Amino acid sequence: MSQSPVWHPFTQHGLREPIPHIARAQGAVLHTEDGREIIDAISSWWVTTHGHAHPRIAAAIAEQAAVLDQIIFAGWTHAPAEKLAKSLREIMPQSLTRVFFSDSGSTSVEVALKMALGYWLHRGEARHRIVVMENGYHGDTIGTMSVGARGAFNQAYEPLLFDVTSIPFPTQGSEQISLDRLEEACRADAAAFIVEPLMLGAGGMLMYSAQTLAEMRRICAQFGTLFIADEVMTGWGRTGTLLACEQAGIEPDILCLSKGLTGGAIPLAVTMASEPVFDAHWSDDRARMFFHSSSYTANPIACAAANANIAIWRDEPVMDRIDELGKRQAERLDRLASHALVHNPRRMGTITAFDVGEATGYLSDLAPRMLALFRERNVLLRPLGNTVYVMPPYCVDSGQLDQIYEAIEHVLNEIAVR
Ligand SMILES: *Cc1c(COP(=O)(O)O)cnc(C)c1O
Repeated sequence: MSQSPVWHPFTQHGLREPIPHIARAQGAVLHTEDGREIIDAISSWWVTTHGHAHPRIAAAIAEQAAVLDQIIFAGWTHAPAEKLAKSLREIMPQSLTRVFFSDSGSTSVEVALKMALGYWLHRGEARHRIVVMENGYHGDTIGTMSVGARGAFNQAYEPLLFDVTSIPFPTQGSEQISLDRLEEACRADAAAFIVEPLMLGAGGMLMYSAQTLAEMRRICAQFGTLFIADEVMTGWGRTGTLLACEQAGIEPDILCLSKGLTGGAIPLAVTMASEPVFDAHWSDDRARMFFHSSSYTANPIACAAANANIAIWRDEPVMDRIDELGKRQAERLDRLASHALVHNPRRMGTITAFDVGEATGYLSDLAPRMLALFRERNVLLRPLGNTVYVMPPYCVDSGQLDQIYEAIEHVLNEIAVR
């Protein structure tokens, strides 16, 4: 085997697992260098919404690259960013009046946390505590790991992670416990509450009710605790609406978007903030400016891709595709639900998930085993522990969905006999 110098993310190179080479991708299909076709059943880790290599996004990127590739964004601006900010103002919750750019989901969350702390500092109130939800995931940087679930994946960095208040996940029937804990933290002057609305992604596709989300928002508002919605995964239609927050009829104080913002073609993120959050930093005193930037803030090529994404949402029947995909997903999941190894089948919008067997220590090697079996069946599925989920691009067709679910059934049967 040739030795590649590439160090892959979330990959144990010591296990010498095969790493497929992808040469190109179109729609919901990945083409390997050795000529295989693989169905992308997880939207290349939740980013690809309309499908790979959408011609309008590809054209926008090519066009913009030839006109203005990059420009400092501190004190300078350009048409693609201005246009994108205006469009986001139109389609995102009305109270979110300001758009701050960065380049990944993690940075959008870091920005949100810094905005929240700046807000309280500039208002002259000593509120620093961040409240989080058990099993949450917000990224892999030090700050975002601090507000996410603690475990093996961040144990080495534990000494550097800041202290937060964690409320229990609102499992069905125990919502009030979570709400009470949130209220307690808010009463104790929490600065902000950060949460993935309706669905915790990396935590295992855990779903909770819109009513609970609305109640959490109400509690934060009551005590002035800033409500940060991390819609990095749930945004752009995944849960059946443009934002998950819509289903609860709520507007956050701060909103994080990335992944589907460019249709999944190129990195870009935004953190949208309400006017009071912006106002707190507004002054003739330079010391109160928002101290955050990265080299590629609002990169024009990335903004052009995001503008093309929004044009697709405007011009194509994206919402119809999402509704249709949701129905098809529900049918497939229903058929699978009677399998002895399928536990807790669940769906929200375009996403289905279930747990394999009862979670036990034995299952710790289940995810990599399933991953390898799925790969053999030419389907890209990457279980989260013993949770299998299907989150395809919206262009996936019925035959491709069948192939995905046939692969799942096959793999479950393989596992059952061992
Ligand atoms: C993926 C994800 C992030 C991190 O985004 P990156 O672009 O990988 O840094 C943050 N929050 C949520 C909810 C996510 O799913």
